[in-house]
Amino acid sequence: MQLTDLKGVGEKTLAKLNALGIRDGRDLLDFLPTEYWDMTREGDLRVAREGEYLLLKGRVRKLTKLVRTGRLNFFAATVDTPSGTIKAVWFNAPYLRANVEEGGEITLWGKLSVKKGARELINPGFEGAGGERLKGIVPIYPTKGAIGQALMRKLTAECVAKQAATPLVELDGIMPLGKAYYDAHLPSSLDAAHEAMRRIALEQLTADLIAYKLRRAGERHSRKSRCEKPLSIMDDMVQSLPFELTRTQRAAIADIVGDLRSDECMNRMIVGDVGSGKTVVALITAAYVARCGMQSALMAPTEILARQHYLNACKLFEGAGVSCALITGSDGAAQRRKTCAAVAAGDVDLLIGTHAVLSDSVAFADLGYVIVDELHKFGVRQKSALETKAKDVDVAVMSATPIPRALALAEYGDIAVSTIESRKSADEYAKTEIVKDEDLGKLFDRIRELALSGEQIYIVCPRVEDSEGIELASAKSVYAELADGALKGIPTGLVYGSMAEKKKTETMTAFSEGRLSVLVATGVVEVGVDCRGATTMVVLHADRFGLASLHQLRGRVGRRKGMTSRCYLHTSGGDNARLELLTEECDGSKLAEADAEIRGYGDFMGFRQSGGSGFKIDKSLLALAKQCADKLLERDGAALAEHYRVKLFYDKANNISMN
Ligand code: ADP
Ligand code: MG
Repeated sequence: MQLTDLKGVGEKTLAKLNALGIRDGRDLLDFLPTEYWDMTREGDLRVAREGEYLLLKGRVRKLTKLVRTGRLNFFAATVDTPSGTIKAVWFNAPYLRANVEEGGEITLWGKLSVKKGARELINPGFEGAGGERLKGIVPIYPTKGAIGQALMRKLTAECVAKQAATPLVELDGIMPLGKAYYDAHLPSSLDAAHEAMRRIALEQLTADLIAYKLRRAGERHSRKSRCEKPLSIMDDMVQSLPFELTRTQRAAIADIVGDLRSDECMNRMIVGDVGSGKTVVALITAAYVARCGMQSALMAPTEILARQHYLNACKLFEGAGVSCALITGSDGAAQRRKTCAAVAAGDVDLLIGTHAVLSDSVAFADLGYVIVDELHKFGVRQKSALETKAKDVDVAVMSATPIPRALALAEYGDIAVSTIESRKSADEYAKTEIVKDEDLGKLFDRIRELALSGEQIYIVCPRVEDSEGIELASAKSVYAELADGALKGIPTGLVYGSMAEKKKTETMTAFSEGRLSVLVATGVVEVGVDCRGATTMVVLHADRFGLASLHQLRGRVGRRKGMTSRCYLHTSGGDNARLELLTEECDGSKLAEADAEIRGYGDFMGFRQSGGSGFKIDKSLLALAKQCADKLLERDGAALAEHYRVKLFYDKANNISMN
């Protein structure tokens, strides 16, 4: 079905739909609500929690005048409802005031916020007596404001009637897909909507698994292994380490070397929580490859981390006959030429860097092994560059927080997984607390005390702007404020992404050598960077960070036994479900799984991130999808590649773009 077959879709609306990735009727069916507003029952203020959406019916006791303050204007209504009184405030919408009548009946729909103990709804939807809008289950679409929700609902409703669903999974006992689309877009109850979402998620997931399986079947690379030497040639290097490798580190190294020595191309994921010691596994296996006469590349997501890996490698490889070089985006042209020449001549055994390691200007003499650190940090483009560059090369990817899809595919397909167990017990992790706005002052007093008693503290700020384009807690402004206020007289440094690389490194070094007590930074410190003395991590506006990022950040502190470490997550937001997870769970994989469940299946699909959807995944759904995929593959085999949904996934189902 063409989108223009729908009533009210002219050129303009068509362009807007296209911009949202919706090109035809099928896409529109799959453009699923990210949430549903349940206006079937009234909320109860006595039990409602902050952040909850409520439908409230009552009478307007008092209506304020329009108040103007600077750029802002607002008016408010005090509304008595059967379960209590609530204040409704409308900002910058003076024209709405005429629709609110003092003494009149009103129905409100909005998110409950609590300010200094007072309950408020900010900019709620509302209607007076006899209103018909605020009722039923209302799907909310991720239109990014480009298309009104009402129009979107009209379009999807018409689409459900006109567009056939063409299911992949048609098996006994599984809800017909057409019904699922109907219930997802026009639900009669929340339960029906969720059942429908689950069914559609099953369809997607099954297609994903089938595409992956078919693709991998055609792609199983084999090549003659050129690693003939036994692992024992690395004994000297292992012995030279300042620590003993753990059992699971040794197993991971053996797994990788086993792959290198087999005639089938390696496709392995090394999963190990923050601080579990993945780097040394990467370095020793790269050194092994060097001793077998080939080159390796180690790709890290940030320059700081690449540099740190480089320093570690230099130390480990010294006197061991293995050479390494560093390449980053900030190398000068002459430097870059020199590095590239050495790599091309085969004088460099291990090239470490950011995604620059795989840029076109780098030609390896004989690349045999690629390691991708912190895979989840790389964008799709960088991953596909890796694929072209590393086609017949053995690849190991490392991740602390693999998302469930990656693990599911790994399990289902032929990505091998090695797990490195954490050397820490649960109580050695940073104790995590959530800090609200009103307690921020107290927190900084505490930071001051800690710094004075010789501890080291990170203060991490997000790089975000508020809706008015004002930067929220930018590292620079936080630094300025603290250096002159709460942390006056305490040696404090600042690093942020766009800072000159040299200055960045200097400051980081000063911090890791203990010359600075406090480091104010953006997320650049997130990945892998090690400062052994730091005990405390403060994350401002933690709700702006992904859960995996926060877990990584928290992993920056308390890496030494016997040290008390803490992590303070500041938030001004009301809904802290994700942050609360961090206070309870310290296992990276479990966090990633829980996060995927909270964020829903949209993120889980990776490339549909912008499309969004409210799918929830869980283990039982994954298991069901595997069953369906197996049944269908057995029945229809390679013919399944012709199904449009399998095709969609097929192009994306490659061996490493899976995190
Ligand atoms: P991640 O898995 O998060 O990348 P790293 O490789 O950065 O962790 O290791 C974290 C720290 O643990 C490093 O300082 C490293 O030297 C140290 N380390 C690694 N393996 C061991 C081990 N077996 N025993 C003691 N320390 C180790
Ligand atoms: Mg690491």
